[in-house]
Amino acid sequence: MTDCIFCKIASGILPASIIYQDEKIIAFDDIYPKAPTHKLIIPRKHIATLNDLSAEDKGLIDEMTAVAQKLAVDLKIDQSGYRVLINCNPDGGQVVYHLHLHLLGGKRLTFKEW
Ligand code: AMP
Ligand code: ZN
Repeated sequence: MTDCIFCKIASGILPASIIYQDEKIIAFDDIYPKAPTHKLIIPRKHIATLNDLSAEDKGLIDEMTAVAQKLAVDLKIDQSGYRVLINCNPDGGQVVYHLHLHLLGGKRLTFKEW
């Protein structure tokens, strides 16, 4: 997807503060953080929304949540707590149409973040 900012980050065309990467997944700082810790975890593969996950992507969400779990430990928010969320389509508040998990923490979260 040539027009997708997260594909551009995944391929290195656009800069980002990358904190984790492997052959399938990348994680980086959210550019407009909504909490003291706000990371985005994305698949390298372009998948527009959660609706577009297919059988061939089986296991991908598991791997993304495993990265969230690992980052929460690394960032020392695993015990204080954190939130992992996916926004889907306009009513879900999705703005970037490349599947991503938000990892939020570092303060007592309410639902006002979104
Ligand atoms: P969503 O509303 O779930 O689509 O979230 C998209 C997120 O991407 C927002 O929290 C934005 O702050 C974040 N974002 C947009 N552009 C960039 C970028 N170039 N680098 C890092 N985060 C970004
Ligand atoms: Zn993309």
